[in-house]
Order: sequence, then C-alpha cells, then structure tokens
Amino acid sequence: ESALVWFRRDLRSHDHAALFHALKAARKVWCVFVFDDTILAPLPRADRRVAFIRESLVELDAALAELAAPALPAHAATSGQHAGLIVRHGNPVQLIPALAAQLGVQAVYANHDDEPDAQARDARVRGKLSDLGVALYTSKDHVVFERNEVLTGNDSPYGVFTPYKNAWLKKLDPFYVKPYPIAPHAGRLAPIPPAVCPIGAPRVPTLGEIGFEDPGELKVPPGMRGAQALLDDFLSRIDRYDETRDFPGIKGPSYLSTHLRFGTVSVRQLAGLAWERMQAGSAGAQTWLAELIWRDFYHQILHHHPHVVGHAYKREYDRIKWAHGAKAEAHFQAWCGGRTGYPLVDAAMRQLNQTGYMHNRLRMVTASFLIKDLGIDWRRGEAYFAEKLLDFDLAANNGGWQWAASTGCDAQPYFRIFNPISQSEKFDPQGRFIRRYVPELAALPDAALHAPWLARPADLAAAQDVVLGRDYPEPIVQHDEARAETLARYAVVKEGA
Ligand code: FAD
Repeated sequence: ESALVWFRRDLRSHDHAALFHALKAARKVWCVFVFDDTILAPLPRADRRVAFIRESLVELDAALAELAAPALPAHAATSGQHAGLIVRHGNPVQLIPALAAQLGVQAVYANHDDEPDAQARDARVRGKLSDLGVALYTSKDHVVFERNEVLTGNDSPYGVFTPYKNAWLKKLDPFYVKPYPIAPHAGRLAPIPPAVCPIGAPRVPTLGEIGFEDPGELKVPPGMRGAQALLDDFLSRIDRYDETRDFPGIKGPSYLSTHLRFGTVSVRQLAGLAWERMQAGSAGAQTWLAELIWRDFYHQILHHHPHVVGHAYKREYDRIKWAHGAKAEAHFQAWCGGRTGYPLVDAAMRQLNQTGYMHNRLRMVTASFLIKDLGIDWRRGEAYFAEKLLDFDLAANNGGWQWAASTGCDAQPYFRIFNPISQSEKFDPQGRFIRRYVPELAALPDAALHAPWLARPADLAAAQDVVLGRDYPEPIVQHDEARAETLARYAVVKEGA
C-alpha cells in the first residue's frame, strides 16, 4: 500500500528504476536520502563530493515536490505539507528501518549498489526491515548490464574487455535503454508528515550541519540540470570524440563521470543516445559507447571478483615487492604534489588537486608513472585518487589502477611501460595543458616543455631564466633506469609462474 524509496547513487527524479517500481506498486510513496556517517567520517572536512551531493539533493527535493504538486491533496497544501525528499544523517542501518516504521510502509525500494561495503550494509538493512515485516526490493539502475547479464558461452564472467564489449553490444536492444516513466505516476508521491519533517523547515541540511566545510567552487555543475548542460554541450562534440578524447589540452570528453557516479544522469539515456548516433554512422559515438561499456565491465568485475579491493585481480602479482623507505616516501609525496620534474605528470596531478578531475589519458600516464617509474604500490595511488576524484568510483578506479599496474583483467602487459616524455610529446604537443597547470614553465618553447632538463641552456635562459631545481624540480628519477628496475621487479611474477 505504501512505500519508501531510498536514494543512494541515483540522485534524479526521471528514468529511475526504484522510484518507478515503488510508484507502480504503492498508493503512497515517500523518498529518503541518508548522509551515511560510516562513509562520511573518514573524508576530509572540505570535500567536493559531499558538496556536490548536497547541491544535487536540494534540486532533487524541489523536483520531487514539483512532480507531486498537481495531485497534492487540498488539506496537505493548505497545511503547508509538501512531497519531496526526507534527508537523514547517521547510520542507514538504523535510520532506514526507523523511518519505514514511522511512516508505516510495507516496502522499501532501492537501486543496486554492488560495492562490497554497500552490499554488506544492504544485507543488514534488509534483515532489520524484515524483522519489522517490511520488504526491501532492489533493482538494476546504475549500469546498462550488471552481474550475470553478460556472460561467456559457458556462463562465466568475462575477464577480457573486447569479447565482453561484443557480447554487450549483441545483447543490447531498445528495451534495455528505455526510460522508466516517472511523471505519469508522480501523483502517488505523498506529502511528508510533519512528525517526519517539520513544516517549513529546510529539508536538506547545510554542509555545516553534517560536519563539513564549503570546499569552494565546484568545477562540475551539480544536479540533473548540471548533467543536462554538460550533455547538451557534449552532444555537439560527440561525433569527434574518437579524434579528440586523448588530448587533455582540448575539450574532448564529456565530463559526465561525476554525474554517472551519483546518478544525476541516467546511463540508459546516455547509452541510448550514443547507440542511436553510432547506428547513424558516428565513429565518435561508437568510441564513446565503448567507454560506457568499460564502466559496465569494471562493475561486473567488482561484483564477481570482490578480492580486487585490496588485492591484484591476478593473484600472483601480489608477490611483487614495491619500493618503500624514505626515498619511496619522498617520491610518493612529489607525485601527489605534482613535483616530479616530469611536466605532464605534474600538470595532471595539479589538475586533480585543484579541480577533483583528471583527464583519462593522464590518469593512465600518472598511474603508470607512480607504479612503473617510482616502483610504488598501485594501491597507494588508488587510495590517493579515491580521496581526490570528484567522480571516484570504486569499480572504475580499481580497474584503472590494476590496468596500469598490469595486475588486472585485460591489463597492459607489464613489459609495456608508458614513457612519460613521449606521452607528453604525443598528447600535449604544444604544451597547452602543461602550460595551464605548470605556469612556471609556460615561457619554454614547446619542444623543451616535455623534458625541461634536456632543454638547451639558451632556451631556459630565454624563458625568463627558468632554473631547474629552483623554479621547477629536476626529474626525481630517470625513466630508462626506472624502466629496468620495473622489469626486474615484475620478474618475480614470471619466476613463480
Ligand atoms: P568520457 O571520456 O566522456 O567517458 C564517458 C564515461 O564513460 C565516463 O564518464 C565514465 O563513466 C565512463 N568511462 C570512461 N572511461 C572509463 C574507463 N576506463 N573505465 C570505466 N569507465 C569509464 N572513472 C570514474 O568514473 N571514476 C574513477 O574513479 C576512475 N578512476 C580511474 C583511475 C585510473 C587509473 C584510470 C586509468 C581511469 C579511471 N577512470 C575512472 C576512468 C576514466 O578515466 C574516467 O571515467 C574519465 O576520465 C571521466 O571523464 P569523462 O566523464 O569526461 O569521460
């Protein structure tokens, strides 16, 4: 008869699986989001993601209220009650069952979250709800295909991307990207009783009220409206994505990753649009759809192989002895701070630190540099990205790091090692990106920007007397030596095989 929809990584009011199923099944539906203290507690106090979520919730609350308004009972409207979002702060394992009991619902609806911690949390919530006689129904929403939907001929999960992609594309049909219609059923969104949220009180707490500080300007516009603006902009460029996506100095990618992470955009909508354009012959859309398939791929890897959290996907790679001690620590700090002496690596790390975003090509370059030039455990880089990325997603981040470390499924072979100088020459030839984030080198001629320690003294002098070691670091390692060390380090894997 009545239901509660628990929003998590799906902060939108359109094309929403759990909301649709609740609206179809129940006469009265309420919506809730919980700021989960177990997730928030370890975060830095000025965290862009928390600010992004908060802004998105304000918009979601207003959108739900607006959807419900036409059908709101007269007595609710006159007493000032609205439909919208109930927001709680604390531990959802207690708060969701308590709210379900207070509202007297028979069922709670949510979308799948396949991260191991989320699975454990949901199992506990399910148990507590069941003690109250309340059901927890969950649906796929975050990816196009999940769990066991795309399997090999003998029903096992894929560990290699290309055959997975082919099977994924073969399975796709319009049904899987069809939107869940919300508006026609929105009259079932019920006014929030005053005992649950006092009338007139703001429903979304301020950052201060949940123990956070303002992190300053969000470089990604939040909420469904922010996602739509980015999508509109990208659709005018999508046909050239295959040619532009590798060059960090130009606007090539969609910048939608944070919205995909928090569900302020629907992946079905994006996949449907890309698929349509691809069928009309767009090579850019085809390449972009493949990126969305990588996203599904890593989610199903995490689901089938949860040991990848903390361990190599290929277990024999856990035998590698990573660099440690004072020198390794100094190298790690230089990498984090964008002070390695390799301009492209430094520009990328500064982009991450300053904006919470890093271009995909540069995620590969910086990850490879940390692991294969500095010999540092990929898990330390993974954790640093997890702390800084606005779009941090456990499945994609872990997959990306294991790919770069050659420890993962379908990773690059360990003997193929990115050269940070040639990557720089190839993907930022005029140094447009480097100059933006490493302004101390901006006056160097293009050719000298990629490895300034090899620059002619006249070039350095002409560039307003740039002195390496004073104005910008000398390289902290030599790539060729580091490469040899890495090959030796990884040999243990072969020896033990
Ligand atoms: P676009 O190029 O426009 O791609 C569209 C979407 O496809 C992205 O928004 C993303 O959802 C998905 N996507 C693209 N590439 C990948 C990929 N390789 N794996 C999985 N999904 C992909 N992506 C994250 O969303 N969160 C992360 O924490 C993350 N960490 C990464 C760490 C490393 C070391 C590497 C190499 C990659 C990582 N990626 C991660 C993947 C990728 O770099 C980002 O998704 C992309 O840069 C986001 O920018 P965009 O939205 O403009 O991408």
